[in-house]
Amino acid sequence: MKKTVSFSKNAINVFFHILTSCNLKCRHCYINTEQHGKNKLPISTINAWLGIFTKKSIKTNVIFLGGEPTMHPDLSLAIKKAGDLGCNSITVDTNGYLFNDILSKVKPKDVDYFSFSLDGATPKTNDWIRGKGSYDTCIAGIREAVSRGFATSLIYTVSRANLHELDMMVPLIKNLGINRFFIQVIGLRGKSAEKGPEKSQVLHSQWLGIIPEIAQKVAELGVTVTYPKVFLGPKEIFECAGLADTINAWMEEFNNNILSRILYNKYFKNIRAKRIAQSQYSSFSGGKLSAYDKTIKKGSKILGWDWRLLASMIYQESEFKPNVRSWVGAYGLMQMMPKTFEKYGLDTTASPQQQIIAGSKYLKHLEGQLPEEITDSTDRIKFTLASYNSGLGHVLDARRLAMKYGKDQDIWIDNVDYFILNLSDEYYYHDTVVYYGYLRGGETYNFVNEIFKRYDDYRNLISE
Ligand code: SF4
Repeated sequence: MKKTVSFSKNAINVFFHILTSCNLKCRHCYINTEQHGKNKLPISTINAWLGIFTKKSIKTNVIFLGGEPTMHPDLSLAIKKAGDLGCNSITVDTNGYLFNDILSKVKPKDVDYFSFSLDGATPKTNDWIRGKGSYDTCIAGIREAVSRGFATSLIYTVSRANLHELDMMVPLIKNLGINRFFIQVIGLRGKSAEKGPEKSQVLHSQWLGIIPEIAQKVAELGVTVTYPKVFLGPKEIFECAGLADTINAWMEEFNNNILSRILYNKYFKNIRAKRIAQSQYSSFSGGKLSAYDKTIKKGSKILGWDWRLLASMIYQESEFKPNVRSWVGAYGLMQMMPKTFEKYGLDTTASPQQQIIAGSKYLKHLEGQLPEEITDSTDRIKFTLASYNSGLGHVLDARRLAMKYGKDQDIWIDNVDYFILNLSDEYYYHDTVVYYGYLRGGETYNFVNEIFKRYDDYRNLISE
């Protein structure tokens, strides 16, 4: 059963522009490379934002947009994530070029609609608006999607340039086997705003005289038809389809979760900077990060790392507290397990200095276990930190997954880190290339990110 996106109470519609690039230059485009540059969200960001907006208690309809969203190489992963998060419906809006072989990477059960944009019933009108060849490509894309069992939707943005062909869409929609037809009104944004309403928007009388009649004809084919109420009658009241209620319900829930507090702290309080500035070990009070800076510098020489990076890692583990013990038995400044202490002839009576040197040697040992193919020095550090936190086996699992899904197994950001994050997902930890099973991957992912973020702060505060 396909679900139709509509504005309703207790539902969220997430219009998610995952990139701004597009291969076309439509005359009415409001998002395009010229105006918005070439931006592409990394899959980790897409997933994080899907997580924020998807609430089990509220229906979430996700519409992936661009630019042209199929130009995003990880669109199939984003679709999968939206499905895993339990989104009410998933739609991909496309100009029909269907890049990256998207129809082969997802299945009809994964996507509620592929929604195609066509702005004319003939190549002449459509291609004048959307570009040469775009009509034939879009029609071919629709046919391909329908033949593979995908539900399809068609968006027709009505303007003065194509209103005359709207009635010709009725037989075309029937012929193509479209499931849903969306008649859109041209928005005065982007390029169409430059031209002004008199050049693009249809008249009040044209809209009211033509749109409802055509919509009725298409609906009689058994197709779901949607069109916006563009003009209000003299006594009609504007209603925003429960949008305020929906936002309020979402905010209420969002304000109570951890992520909202993290975002609030990040953007409004910047606690970390405050903590550093207040610490007795800051650049404001003698250029120190901790009481162990001297030994940390020795440890960093063993590793060949910047000492401030090692300091950031130690802060992450223990906040520079030498006697802290975790519930799993990890102990000390670098939160090493008793077995690791033993490996270096130590136990929990070890001095802070001994702990740091042993921890540095252990990090060096882990770094030596990593495949030589990881050549970038920053990547090697990230893989090492991840191995320190989760164990080398899980990191190697994530590398194998990266390779299987066409990512670069030697690069951390937006490649292996994505699969570390998802090792808590049954779909991935049951994969045949995963030998070490489940991992609370979010912990490892954050461990690496937090250390590098703090390292940036330290570099700003303390000179080498
Ligand atoms: S296909 Fe969409 S994003 Fe691309 S140029 Fe046309 S309107 Fe803009």
